[in-house]
Amino acid sequence: MPANWMRSLSTSYRRARRKFPDEHLLLTCDIDGTVIDMRHVILAVLWAYDRAHSTSYFDRLRLSRIKVHENQVGRLLASLDLPAGIREEVLAWYLEQRWEPDVILESHRPFPGVMEMIRWFQIQDNTSVGFITGRPERLREVTLQSLNQLGAPYGVQIPNDLLCMNPSDWEQGVAESKVRALDDFRQRGYHVFAYIDNEPDLIKAVARHDTTKGIRVLHANTVFESIRTHLPQRTAHGASYRLAQLIPGEDALPSQVQLVRKAVSNKINLRQFLASTVRWAGVDVHLDASRSRLMLRPESFMTSLALEMAWLGPEDVVESVQQRGRGIQLDLMAGGLLVDMVLNILTDKAFDDRDIWFNGRIEHLEQKGFRRLTERHPGAIIQCPIDFLKPLVMAAPEKARDSLKMLRDWGIGRFSINWGQPELRRLFGTLRDWGYDVNIQDPPDLESFLQAVLLLPRSVTSDFDFPQWNRRGRPATPPERRGRKRRRSPSKSRATTSRAGKVHRTKG
Ligand SMILES: [Mg+2]
Repeated sequence: MPANWMRSLSTSYRRARRKFPDEHLLLTCDIDGTVIDMRHVILAVLWAYDRAHSTSYFDRLRLSRIKVHENQVGRLLASLDLPAGIREEVLAWYLEQRWEPDVILESHRPFPGVMEMIRWFQIQDNTSVGFITGRPERLREVTLQSLNQLGAPYGVQIPNDLLCMNPSDWEQGVAESKVRALDDFRQRGYHVFAYIDNEPDLIKAVARHDTTKGIRVLHANTVFESIRTHLPQRTAHGASYRLAQLIPGEDALPSQVQLVRKAVSNKINLRQFLASTVRWAGVDVHLDASRSRLMLRPESFMTSLALEMAWLGPEDVVESVQQRGRGIQLDLMAGGLLVDMVLNILTDKAFDDRDIWFNGRIEHLEQKGFRRLTERHPGAIIQCPIDFLKPLVMAAPEKARDSLKMLRDWGIGRFSINWGQPELRRLFGTLRDWGYDVNIQDPPDLESFLQAVLLLPRSVTSDFDFPQWNRRGRPATPPERRGRKRRRSPSKSRATTSRAGKVHRTKG
């Protein structure tokens, strides 16, 4: 069995897909303690007690100190230094408040990565995610509202018919209602391939009921009430939802998202680009100090002689990319002469517009620069970063739309936003809702790259500097499986440079 639970889930999904190619596959999940981190509720209700009673018993209480199940808050209170008689009063307040609709809507928080996992399955063909909860039926409406509110920034949508509530009251017949819900999904034509829950007793009940062993059971090892012994051997365990372990590699990514591999400006990066399945090679184009030559690095960029020799010129990259039927993204670092020189290279090489992508800042290219690109290459992608417009998008959307319309009139068809932008998801959602093609730039590591791709923007630009993937975009051999193979000494490893000028050692 794979060592990691997300890898195990991914393997089970692919196996089910192969075995049942025409069936509608369903991942099923518990909610509390599996999707929702209930510690936030405990903290929020105790803080609300202080506010309502003008006390400060929980001022110093932090999430990291909460290690009890939401049904065992009495234990937490016993460990805190509360005056006599207050503990019972607080506990009564907590029990009265914790499932109030406004508490659910305001204090529920998903575990990091869980919404992305749900989104990943929701964007697969003929696949859905169903939710089976011990919450009573009367909480259906607020549960749906809360989950959809939390899922919206990730693109997650949960329909009413994929949410199964407990027809009885709290803690009554939960195991029975969960197995009935699984049967119900089956009768409605779904093929349930996996079930995730944080309560060991409920995993055992589901596994016992699944006599054909067709369901992969996964224990969310977060906070739970029942005893974690005698779980079926086939149970996978884990506490963190990591896309890097769930998504098996570059070729599993949604094909509608165009990918650009940045910094294909030296021989090593070009070789790695050509070995991958990424279609677009990205390069920054600069003018040298004499303004007579184009370079793929700034003039001031200091490198060793060996690295100096590895740098390529724009013609080299254009030619290699053209020969392999790939596309090139030219990030134009100035306007005027630089634009003329780049256009001349593309004309010399008779480069097809469909393989050309220009990116440039509006202060560098100005209206005339963009218009020139559009006139010469009407079929190319023309893009500019618009991070500077974010305050306007948020505060004065009509003004922002006027600016975007002006840029569209200049010939710019795609707008790029940086992953590091605060409230990136909100900005992305607004631009998407306005109907613009959006590029997400520079997610710094594999996990954020995958999160960016799952938003399904038109494109994502990244340096693909992911140690977890090999140069073909497949998972690198995990350290535990490398055995005793001798590794190269660092001095013999090859060096590459990122755009920021950092030197990265890569495996040989
Ligand atoms: Mg639970």
